[in-house]
Amino acid sequence: MNGIEHTIKDEIRQIFIYEVLFFLFLNFIIYFFYKNFLKADLYKKLNRIKAFLESGKDKKEIYLGDDQWILQFWRVVKAWQQENLSNISKLDKEKEILTKIISAVDSAIILLDKDFNFTVKNNNLLYLFERSKYNCIQGIKYIEIIEVIREAQLKNKDIKKEIYIQDLKKYFLITVKKLDSREEYLLSIKDMTPAREIVEVQRKFISNVSHELKTPLTNIKGYLIALKDAPDSVKENFINIIERNIDKMENIIVDFLNISKMESLNIINISQVSEEKLSTFLKESVQGIIKKKNGFLEFKFELLEKDSYLQIDFEKITMILKNLIENGFIYNHSENPKVAVNIYEMRKTYKIIVQDNGIGIEKNKIDKIFERFYRVDKARTSNVAGTGLGLSIVKEIIKNYEGEIKVLSEEGKGSTFIISIPK
Ligand code: ADP
Repeated sequence: MNGIEHTIKDEIRQIFIYEVLFFLFLNFIIYFFYKNFLKADLYKKLNRIKAFLESGKDKKEIYLGDDQWILQFWRVVKAWQQENLSNISKLDKEKEILTKIISAVDSAIILLDKDFNFTVKNNNLLYLFERSKYNCIQGIKYIEIIEVIREAQLKNKDIKKEIYIQDLKKYFLITVKKLDSREEYLLSIKDMTPAREIVEVQRKFISNVSHELKTPLTNIKGYLIALKDAPDSVKENFINIIERNIDKMENIIVDFLNISKMESLNIINISQVSEEKLSTFLKESVQGIIKKKNGFLEFKFELLEKDSYLQIDFEKITMILKNLIENGFIYNHSENPKVAVNIYEMRKTYKIIVQDNGIGIEKNKIDKIFERFYRVDKARTSNVAGTGLGLSIVKEIIKNYEGEIKVLSEEGKGSTFIISIPK
């Protein structure tokens, strides 16, 4: 029995071993087949899908044979990719709009993360920042700005503050706003200097006007009182002085009104003007001073087409020319005072030259004559009625006209004002 049992057991063991070996071998064959054929084929197809997805080409170009499930998988992935692409392009557009908006703002706009690193920053007021430094403590050049940011952090609240940076001689409005949703700060820096300057100019202007009005007024008052008890021999002289001072007050007020009119009337109003109309109008406007000085006013036009019209803002050009012509006669001690106005039409501009044979202007005063209330000392005595506002008005009009004015002058010989205005 034992012998038979043994043989049977041996046989079973043998069969078992063979079967195990057989299945191992089969497994190996399947694995080999899977690895080298099925998996490789799958990889190949997936790689092709990947390549096509990356290239962004149309799905028709991909060959997927009969593999329906891969085809379906491909469609799902493709649809998902399309959606992502359209979301990305939407985001790109929104980002572009946002970038345009923040760069169009005339302030520096900066988003700081919780460690005060710049995360977003537009390209305004670049002179306030160090290049390639991303933390605001090292990246902002001026301690005055950093102090405001620190204050906002310390007090944990929004801050809006106007500061003055001594090194730059400029005023800035700093706003630090903590964004509630995140640990971030929105910092904006606006240069307030131009706005401050306008206020300062207006303040100075008002104080100058009051001062300029006060002097003739005091004179008038004084001479009127003196007139009461004055002997007849000086009465006429006193009346003349009073008259001159009244003229001066009138001129100041007219110029003052012209300036405020200029500031509100920045629009250029071009119309067709004939040579005749312009010269006649001007001759009539300055006839008083021509008569007084026994002067001679001459006009010369050179237009591209003979007898054509000038395309100019009549009101503004006549205001400029009236001022320059009058000055040409007023600041003139010649026996035969003469002012010549030459108008040349160029392709894109008009060149207007006003030349006189007057007293001329000292070289170091030439730049100053366009400043409000500036008067060359010598003129102050010879023309009491002058205000020092005329040329500042001329300059302002030409600036609005986007033109230019230059002066050539020689003391004792005369001055030439050269204007260029666009057509
Ligand atoms: P105002 O004539 O009222 O003084 P303006 O602004 O017209 O003011 O001129 C400023 C100053 O420039 C004048 O006071 C005068 O000294 C000088 N100036 C202007 N035009 C001439 C000129 N053609 N020749 C000499 N000096 C001039």
